[in-house]
Amino acid sequence: MDASTTPTPAWAGKIYTNGWQVAHGGTQDVREAATGAVLASAGLADREDVDAALQRAREAGAAWAATPFDQRAAVIRRAAALLETRSAEFIHWNVRECGSIEPKAQWETHATVEQLWMAAALPMQADGLQFPSALPGRSNSWRRVPVGTVAVIAPWNFPLLLGMRSVAPALALGNAVVLKPDVQSAVTGGLLVAQLFADAGLPPGVLQVLPGGAETGDALVRHALTDMVSFTGSTAVGRGIGEACGRALKKVILELGGNNAMIVLPDADLDGAASCAAWGAFLHQGQICMQAGRHLVHRSVANAYAEKLAARAQALVVGDPARGPVHLGPLINDRQTAKVHGIVQASIAAGATLVTGGTHDGRFYRPTVLTGVTPQMPAFGEEIFGPVAPITVFDTDEEAVALANGSDYGLAAAIHSADLGRATALAARLKTGMVHINDQPVNNEFQVPFGGMGASSSGGRFGGPANLETFTTTQWVSTLAKPVPYPF
Ligand code: NAD
Repeated sequence: MDASTTPTPAWAGKIYTNGWQVAHGGTQDVREAATGAVLASAGLADREDVDAALQRAREAGAAWAATPFDQRAAVIRRAAALLETRSAEFIHWNVRECGSIEPKAQWETHATVEQLWMAAALPMQADGLQFPSALPGRSNSWRRVPVGTVAVIAPWNFPLLLGMRSVAPALALGNAVVLKPDVQSAVTGGLLVAQLFADAGLPPGVLQVLPGGAETGDALVRHALTDMVSFTGSTAVGRGIGEACGRALKKVILELGGNNAMIVLPDADLDGAASCAAWGAFLHQGQICMQAGRHLVHRSVANAYAEKLAARAQALVVGDPARGPVHLGPLINDRQTAKVHGIVQASIAAGATLVTGGTHDGRFYRPTVLTGVTPQMPAFGEEIFGPVAPITVFDTDEEAVALANGSDYGLAAAIHSADLGRATALAARLKTGMVHINDQPVNNEFQVPFGGMGASSSGGRFGGPANLETFTTTQWVSTLAKPVPYPF
């Protein structure tokens, strides 16, 4: 599909509130990550747009919450089927707007379809429990109810998937949603999603989509009519949102940054580990919260591991994913490119050895392997969000655990060993929300609750049965046939 020859879409230059509307905040360019070329325009929501959307959501949400569960489920199923039909359009925009390689965009779209089917089953789950009462004749019903209006704030790296992991279950469970995609993924992560649900028959006002930046997000978070915030993004921004929600006493779930350890024990299958490492470190140019960002390798196998990983890195093709098959596309913007390069350079200056990579052509960064990385170097301490694999050696399991836990982040980890008992015992000592044995840390299966510890999460979980807890609150309703007499 060529964006330049397709007719102007309904969403061009708009936000989705009461249908497609011109935003008070004006418009913003939608740019191609690989070239910087302007592909289209999207609306840019400001505080006034946020306020109007939240007023509308309050009214529409009440009716949606009262809609029979089978009708809510049917809308979500139709959205799933439509996304399957429209997958080429979503993939096209994901590649151009976000710099995704096509297989990543395909996987993201397919996984989002699966998320929608899963969400469609939520409304028909048991929605409460009955408790006994000490008072004769009283029934105690404890039931799940929608939270109200959920603000979903999503990042650009997997914009469709990470927005939908909140949007779909929140809607299915009777909430209204205001989705704010990142400005760099306004189409893939927002405007196409709005059209999808509109065409699936979701009543007006139940889902509104407000592309915008920090100011738009902040207005959503702080508005009194926002009942809950579901945020995926950086720890720095998440911390501020957590503080604001804490002060306002509103429900919040924060899924944040990571600096994930991949531990390679001396008895590991090194070829298998190197293959996992290349995928975990370089997929989507390393712009994944679960990226294998710290490779902790036993001294006895560290050289062999570095050689095997470097050989894989050197074989990868980097280029514009819209113009031919490549393994790695561009980094999302120039700022991010400069950050990645700065961390690599500073780590080399501090004594790390560059085995391969470390160069870039504009936003196209070569997959990079560094050895001799110590905890004092930025390549160890910072979330790089680029295709960089820093290798640090250890001598004992004790030391491996201390190194892995030597980060404020606690999202995911991986352990490679032929001894599953040893790996499982090690996993129990890691302060991360997810651990994958003989695999790499970039894993997401939506039937399994997902989330981190420490500075990677507020402790909530997305996915599977956790969605029931995350996107509802509860109410105790006790019933007596007639009033009881009290002493006064
Ligand atoms: P970011 O925090 O800068 O932006 C994320 C979203 O928050 C965007 O929509 C942005 O517009 C919005 N935002 C920015 N400032 C805001 C504010 N003050 N108030 C409200 N909203 C605001 O994140 P990013 O750098 O674009 O994304 C990458 C980060 O996201 C990395 O740290 C990565 O690890 C993390 N991430 C985490 C997960 C996870 O599931 N844990 C998944 C993907 C990405």
